[in-house]
Amino acid sequence: MASDPMRRRYDVLVVGGGPAGAVTAWALARRGLRVAVFERAQFPREKVCGDFVEPRGLRLLEAMGCLRTLEAASPLPITHVAIFLQARCAYRGRIPFYGETAGLPPHGYIIPRRELDTILLDAARRAGAAVYDACTAKRVARDGRDMRVTVGRGPRDAHVRGHVVVGADGTHSMVAQCAGLRHDDRRYMAVSQRAYVEGVAVERGEAAFFFDRDLFPGYGWMFPMSDGRANIGVGILAETQTRYGISVPALFRSFVEKLRLAHPGCAGIRLAGRPLGGIVKTYGGSGSNCFDGGVLVGDAGCFVDPMTGEGITPAAESALIAAPVVAAAVERGRSDLPFLSQYERDFRAYFDPAMRYLDLCAAVMRNRFMRDFWLSAVARGCRMAAEDPALARVAGAGFGGMDVRPLSILSHLWSALVGDLGAAAAGMFGVGGGVPLSRAVQPGAHWAGAAVSWSDGWWQSLLDDPWWHTAWAADTLYKWTQVMGTLAADRDPRAQGPLASPASGGRFAST
Ligand SMILES: Cc1cc2nc3c(=O)[nH]c(=O)nc-3n(C[C@H](O)[C@H](O)[C@H](O)COP(=O)(O)OP(=O)(O)OC[C@H]3O[C@@H](n4cnc5c(N)ncnc54)[C@H](O)[C@@H]3O)c2cc1C
Repeated sequence: MASDPMRRRYDVLVVGGGPAGAVTAWALARRGLRVAVFERAQFPREKVCGDFVEPRGLRLLEAMGCLRTLEAASPLPITHVAIFLQARCAYRGRIPFYGETAGLPPHGYIIPRRELDTILLDAARRAGAAVYDACTAKRVARDGRDMRVTVGRGPRDAHVRGHVVVGADGTHSMVAQCAGLRHDDRRYMAVSQRAYVEGVAVERGEAAFFFDRDLFPGYGWMFPMSDGRANIGVGILAETQTRYGISVPALFRSFVEKLRLAHPGCAGIRLAGRPLGGIVKTYGGSGSNCFDGGVLVGDAGCFVDPMTGEGITPAAESALIAAPVVAAAVERGRSDLPFLSQYERDFRAYFDPAMRYLDLCAAVMRNRFMRDFWLSAVARGCRMAAEDPALARVAGAGFGGMDVRPLSILSHLWSALVGDLGAAAAGMFGVGGGVPLSRAVQPGAHWAGAAVSWSDGWWQSLLDDPWWHTAWAADTLYKWTQVMGTLAADRDPRAQGPLASPASGGRFAST
């Protein structure tokens, strides 16, 4: 048994072989560290996901040498977006913030996770990591100066020792549980269901997003792939789902019907497989993600974008931010919490400027009684964005796009709002240059209606559950104070990526 590789002592024990675990293992193994990855599933395996990999994710895949392999399957480049409100198309055009940032491809891809995760884990293996799949990690504990992971492979358990543990085992993380860091706050979780469909007729890579009263706060999606297939799904805030007893499978079924009626390219869609459910945990619920002997990356540590639910790229980014800290821990023979806390400082510096702001937006929208206000505000925003590309870019960034700079977003939205109100006033009083009164939707009428719907929603929410309403209002205010601390940031480190970010002190430059 001496030759049993599991009896070796490793530098780093990575639990979970999804994007977070594979990228961590890749980054550390290519630095020459002895890395073992324990993955419960046998790859290739399915993972419930929308499969949308945005340009920042593609940039990382390219850096890992994986993009060419993925492109061999000729994925459809996603360059356009359609926004549907109450089943009617409110915006259609190029994704306004794609192609604007140097070094990023001008498109995303929809890559089934069965393929993506297999290729990423292969990259880790090629870099030198020992990958044990069909191998479930059961416990993590300190063992003197080492960490010990108990793994079940076949009928027997094995105890594997290493210097540091990286928890990359997804939303139900066993590692986070053992470290006392697991967060299950439903305000920061979304529940969803997705399926693959066939029979989609689209002329270009146009991702469609659907917002309506039933799905609020949340959305439906249709992400087209090559060969007339698409990944479709719905996601809604877990807190709302519990409060109102919403059935996600029922939401999904009704979404499929709406999709067939609303989207001209989806009239003939057929399910190509069983709809499957999943959850995401967003950045607002993330804690320190470091413990004595290890760190958490990806979904295990809650890095998902609070507005879009995108987690593949943040999972990879968190892995790349953790890697230099873990490497330094191995090099210096340290794995104590104070040393590993450097990871917390690094990931906060990297993610906070964008994610705190997106978390605030998500918190404001947590109140379902305000849905009419928000849906009509988004409708107005879509009309304005169709005429003002700069506004489209900035508003898109505020909805989880790229290069999120809160001060610039807020000042741009504010001046657009003031301009819109000015046009409304000019139109009402017949002043020259105002919006012609013949236009279908008058800004004046819109803003008057919005004020009524805001106040209606506010009072209904307060009367329905005063405690919840007060806690929600206080939470929103608290998040404003958090955002204030990041407003001064004149750039979004995520636009540059973790390979270039000063948050990693340039330490990652060598990888
Ligand atoms: C419905 C849905 C749609 C989504 N759509 C998108 C999207 O379009 N784009 C996007 O970017 N993100 C999307 N996400 C989020 C994205 O799927 C996750 O953020 C991403 O998978 C995180 O990667 P990860 O490696 O941290 O975790 P995972 O991908 O969950 O990987 C964790 C791995 O750990 C393994 N594991 C778990 N426990 C153990 C154990 N005890 N021992 C060993 N192995 C273990 C699992 O088998 C798994 O392979 C979506 C999520 C859902 C649920």
